[in-house]
Amino acid sequence: MDITPISNPFVSDAPLATCNLCHRSPVTSRGYSSCQNCRDKRNASKRRATARKREQKMRVFQLATRVNVPPSHSVEPTKPLKRKTPDGENEGDALERIRKRFKKMEPFKKHESIFQIPSAIPTTESQYQKFISASDLHKAIKQSYPDNANPLRFHGTYAIITELDPDHKLKAREVARNLRHNTSLQFNLDDREAYRSDDGAYTIHYKCTCHQSVKRTSSDLTSYFMSKNKAALATPKTECLGRIEVRAEKDMSHRLGWPGQRIKVTITHPKKL
Ligand SMILES: [Zn+2]
Ligand SMILES: [Zn+2]
Repeated sequence: MDITPISNPFVSDAPLATCNLCHRSPVTSRGYSSCQNCRDKRNASKRRATARKREQKMRVFQLATRVNVPPSHSVEPTKPLKRKTPDGENEGDALERIRKRFKKMEPFKKHESIFQIPSAIPTTESQYQKFISASDLHKAIKQSYPDNANPLRFHGTYAIITELDPDHKLKAREVARNLRHNTSLQFNLDDREAYRSDDGAYTIHYKCTCHQSVKRTSSDLTSYFMSKNKAALATPKTECLGRIEVRAEKDMSHRLGWPGQRIKVTITHPKKL
């Protein structure tokens, strides 16, 4: 049988244009400037770039919330600047090349193992002073930290009776709000770093903001760490290294076996400058 393609009067019979990127394959359809292959490559690169940016931002934030910040010279600029594009390279290939290059120079890779270990978390229960309630704990903080100026190391805990499967994240956030409201601790509720442990416990870190008049956001920090400007690197000396950690976890210590939630609050604060 003779198969003759039916010609559509609305579509031109002219051959499709050649891809703008590789100059080899035809474009996917009229109105497009690149071929399927090039588009797939470019989309994949974009996706990777977005994921990488997110990861990078998180690392910067993690660095900033830890005391052992690496020396500034280990930090390199994010973007490979001014680079000659090899002849005949298409956009997809270019992005891929930049990605590989970026991976090689990724400055925080070597610190990654540090991040797996939550900082300054006491491992034994006995390190925590026991309180009977949140207000009891607030009172103790107010007493040992009256004017938000003295050095402080505080490990406090209390437990509450809950439903069988309490929401630790919700609780930890609530505890942090109440801490901020009822003590002289200064921190930004929105500037936090949180993680969930294997056992379901939820931990949030906050940075003390006692030195700050202006709120420093994590994107500020990104630009700060990524900055090549030495003057900019000198400014955040004033950032306080004080840390507030709130943790909510499952607690089955009640003597009658009632399900509960244990709250742990850890505060480390250096002497005020
Ligand atoms: Zn192409
Ligand atoms: Zn402070």
